[in-house]
Amino acid sequence: MAQQGILIVISGPSGTGKGTICRELLRSNPRLKYSISATTRKPRTGEVDGVNYIFVARDQFQAMIHNNELLEWAEVYGNYYGTPRQYVLEQLQNGYDVVLEIDTQGAMKVKETFPEGVFIYIIPPSLDELADRIYKRGTDSLESIKTRLNCASVELAQAQNYHYVVVNDQVAAAVQKVEIIITAEKFRAERNTDLIQNLYRTRCS
Ligand code: 5GP
Repeated sequence: MAQQGILIVISGPSGTGKGTICRELLRSNPRLKYSISATTRKPRTGEVDGVNYIFVARDQFQAMIHNNELLEWAEVYGNYYGTPRQYVLEQLQNGYDVVLEIDTQGAMKVKETFPEGVFIYIIPPSLDELADRIYKRGTDSLESIKTRLNCASVELAQAQNYHYVVVNDQVAAAVQKVEIIITAEKFRAERNTDLIQNLYRTRCS
């Protein structure tokens, strides 16, 4: 049986570049799988259903909650977002590491059920830089940008509930730091109890 994969939860204020970091991580790590969230938010230009998100209507989302299909869900900026349970559990069981890019409310719910997960919080180099990135992204309405910036300081206070904080000043450097964290996590003693047991087993046989 494959060794259970690691659940990696990545959060950070909107515009902090966590999406780009996740894409880069996936490109260079074939053992890593991305959990595609369901959302009631309307697709942005260029977003594809089933690739960026699973776009659903509110009543469909409520049915998913009712049927216990979501590992966690939260209302973020007036829309619902949630992690489909089955995909995540299957991938972990098959030995893949799974990355969830979710907000802090959802992350804290996951921490209750998966305390062995790795919780990483991405921060921008400065709040001015964050505002600049959201404006330049050009994908949100002015109202949505204001909401996202207002929420940023509340969001940042949550960083202390994560295991790691990574500053995204340069994408490549931030990706490398996250890779180092994942690598180190693989060597944690509690994830490798079988290695020690196998040593004893081979000696006695
Ligand atoms: P966006 O609308 O910019 O794509 O995402 C808004 C926020 O929702 C981001 O902080 C993103 O991480 C979060 N989010 C995306 N998917 C999920 C999910 O499945 N669950 C939760 N709790 N948050 C999510």
